[in-house]
Amino acid sequence: MLYEACFDVLPKFMFVPGEGLAGKQPPGTAAAYMTPDKSRIACFQFGCCLVRLAGAEGSVLNVLIDTGLGCTDVPGYIPANAALRPLVDTLRTAGVEPAAVHMVVHTHLHGDHVGWNVRPAADNVPAVGDAPEVPTFPNATHWVHANEWLYAQHEGCPWAELTRQKFGPLQAAGMLQLFEGEGGAIDPARAPQLSFVFAPGHTPGHIAVCVTPDGEAAPRAVYVGDALHVRCAHTARAACATCTACAACAACTAHSASPTA
Ligand SMILES: [Zn+2]
Repeated sequence: MLYEACFDVLPKFMFVPGEGLAGKQPPGTAAAYMTPDKSRIACFQFGCCLVRLAGAEGSVLNVLIDTGLGCTDVPGYIPANAALRPLVDTLRTAGVEPAAVHMVVHTHLHGDHVGWNVRPAADNVPAVGDAPEVPTFPNATHWVHANEWLYAQHEGCPWAELTRQKFGPLQAAGMLQLFEGEGGAIDPARAPQLSFVFAPGHTPGHIAVCVTPDGEAAPRAVYVGDALHVRCAHTARAACATCTACAACAACTAHSASPTA
């Protein structure tokens, strides 16, 4: 796991499910959930995951699942006192340069999962003005489920503009690949150990990513992404592939409670 931001979850962060940031819990509600020292509810960590697979002829295939917060715009919901560490720095500590990432698989397209897709071209981090941006991982194909991608193209999607910013340079360079279905291999030729399970709910096209070592029948690891903190999954899956996703999602309190992260 590669963590970019860590901070204490305090009682003021407890919200009423389905009411978004405006639905504060009544005073005292958090008491039952506090740590024994009463200092916090939990330590919340934003991050993503590096998977190193055995590739062809003894090589290593570096797969990044999601790309974190990014270097240009830390979201406002990250507290000012959060401990921050840029993803690329953590990757380098693990011995992986950005150019050595071969695949990126996105669980979904919220801003805290696509942040490092691009970086300022001049390497002047943070970005200044309208500096052009280029792919952070220049040798990586970025994989997105087709339902998630289609939803993000709809102007009613809250992260439509962000998707254009974070994927525009990738599309121009032919680095975006879509995949479909309820589950199966993502890139069977290059990474047969990697598969996905369609897990909508947090977003219309959210997936979980499974890692199954060669010769084994069941996954050794499952990266569930933000399905971890969703109370229910969509049942009207077909509807989520079109603009009617908005209507389908509005009925799901889990989705409407966490619209952008
Ligand atoms: Zn999310």
